[in-house]
Amino acid sequence: MAKSATKTKTKWKSRAVTRLIEAGEMSECTHCEERVKFRARERNYQVICNVYIAGSWDHVEHFHAPCYEEASLPFGEPSD
Ligand SMILES: [Zn+2]
Repeated sequence: MAKSATKTKTKWKSRAVTRLIEAGEMSECTHCEERVKFRARERNYQVICNVYIAGSWDHVEHFHAPCYEEASLPFGEPSD
């Protein structure tokens, strides 16, 4: 997918947030397709993206935080 360089402020656009991976997390990373796994002794972060298509919410994607950067921030800079 081509990287979008536009940074216009529309009301309902896809956005990303950074969150700690919590126990029981069952998501798969969109980038590497491996499970986003909680590890008791590590504080690992994931990026959760709410994806909007044509102005309405479509689905959620999860990334490992490093994978999200590797994928060139597909849904923009994540906020906390
Ligand atoms: Zn990953």
